[in-house]
Amino acid sequence: MDTTIHITPNKDLKAHIESVDCPCHPKVEMVYNAVIEEWSSVVIHNSYDGREVIEKLQVLSVEQLS
Ligand SMILES: [Zn+2]
Repeated sequence: MDTTIHITPNKDLKAHIESVDCPCHPKVEMVYNAVIEEWSSVVIHNSYDGREVIEKLQVLSVEQLS
């Protein structure tokens, strides 16, 4: 059984392929799924619009304020 979970950004600039070969170079992590008592691979896709960079910049600006 294929229990791979894909996490893709919503409303991204380009469509993602639900595969580790997706052009966004997704990151693959293993997580234990207690419901089915099996390890599943989670494919975390990168957004094409660079929103991760924006999120990191927001975190940095919050830290500088405190
Ligand atoms: Zn992707």
